[in-house]
Amino acid sequence: MTDSTLQAVFDQVIARNPGEAEFHQAVREVLDSLGPVVAKHPSYTQAAVIERLCEPERQIIFRVPWVDDAGNVRINRGFRVEFNSALGPYKGGLRFHPTVNVGIVKFLGFEQIFKNALTGLPIGGGKGGSDFDPKGCSEGEVMRFCQSFMTELYRHIGEYTDVPAGDIGVGGREIGYLFGQYKRITNRYESGMLTGKGITWGGSQVRKEATGYGTVFFVEEMLKQQRETFEGKRVVVSGSGNVAIYAMEKVVQLGGTVVAFSDSSGYVVEEDGVDVETLKQVKEVERGRIADYVERRGGRALLGSSGSIWDVPTDIALPCATQNELDEDHAATLVRNGCRIVAEGANMPTTAAATKVLADAGVLFAPGKAANAGGVATSALEMQQNASRDSWSFEHTERRLDEIMRGIHDRCLATADEYGVPGDYVAGANIAGFTHVADAMLALGVI
Ligand code: NAP
Repeated sequence: MTDSTLQAVFDQVIARNPGEAEFHQAVREVLDSLGPVVAKHPSYTQAAVIERLCEPERQIIFRVPWVDDAGNVRINRGFRVEFNSALGPYKGGLRFHPTVNVGIVKFLGFEQIFKNALTGLPIGGGKGGSDFDPKGCSEGEVMRFCQSFMTELYRHIGEYTDVPAGDIGVGGREIGYLFGQYKRITNRYESGMLTGKGITWGGSQVRKEATGYGTVFFVEEMLKQQRETFEGKRVVVSGSGNVAIYAMEKVVQLGGTVVAFSDSSGYVVEEDGVDVETLKQVKEVERGRIADYVERRGGRALLGSSGSIWDVPTDIALPCATQNELDEDHAATLVRNGCRIVAEGANMPTTAAATKVLADAGVLFAPGKAANAGGVATSALEMQQNASRDSWSFEHTERRLDEIMRGIHDRCLATADEYGVPGDYVAGANIAGFTHVADAMLALGVI
């Protein structure tokens, strides 16, 4: 960081949030882009906007007790970090995964502020979750956990306050149990307090598909800049959860070939193209592992035997699993194998060192806060439909998503141009997101 004001802010973030490595990484990535912004707009520094942005407005940590099928009392920890509400109610998903801690939730909440600002929709930034691991739990255990989690969370959220959604480990099933418990406790059918709901009980068409589809729409725009399309391109997608599956589906619809995907047990290579319908059946319906998919494909798909998914040669890489899954060595391998575009479907899947390797090699790189904003944007469309007691068609909603993603793409490029770093999607996303929130914060005074 070259600017001394920004360096001082960053030093303070480290001192005040010890041991929260992912949060430090997320803050650093944004501050690294803001040198030209603070030089041009001293009012941001005078009003301590950046210091205020780095401190969540509210952090809630709570006990989540529940009883497992064997009658044992189990205790997990629940989190909700309400980071910034300058643009609208806090908005961001809930993650259920054993690695969740306050630093992870803060990194995700911090990213969410800028991502939500980039959509141009009226939503602030927040995030939450628990160190609960739904894997291996029965339906009844997942339901009892969700009910206990909501029994505390309900008092902090609401249509005009804070609107959670899904993330890793939280899909349609969990959202259903969470919504049901909120409705029961409050005696209110307040649809707009949670997004990712089922279609028959207040959900939006395309929400399930939105993050993955949106990431691919963003890449389609990047390709257009090069006068290219997905037609004939090899694509590697890490993960096989919500974001990964629908990224694969849209790649195939646009003429690309998905040659590899993964989960936390390893990766699969299928040179003739992954069969997305079979993968959906295995992952969404049967909640199986990638080995089950390979068995189903009878010799056409192979389990990766060594190394990582990033060893598979590809034109386009879409990391869609989790943070810091693509490191410096993986990036060097991607470059060596001729990869031309990396777009983050997941949040911060690329380490800072890997991002540098890609930039130095001239690989086009789309950061998650821009490329995966389609999920939260469609959540905001779900809120719009809930507020007007309306429901839109799949085609209309997908068209809105597509327009929003193209808008984010163009805003990133225009901002990068304006600040003298043409083609730099990272700087463009950080600066465009930041200035949108910062201007609102200036207008609202010191609060
Ligand atoms: P998900 O449905 O739970 O899927 C997560 C996938 O990533 C699974 O295949 C999982 O494999 C894999 N994974 C998780 N942790 C891993 C690890 N440590 N190592 C290797 N693989 C791992 O979650 P999701 O909603 O797709 O979210 C994926 C990413 O997208 C996250 O970074 C999330 O924050 C981000 N995101 C999600 C949304 C959304 O709308 N859902 C929106 C924006 C960004 P296992 O099943 O083996 O664990």
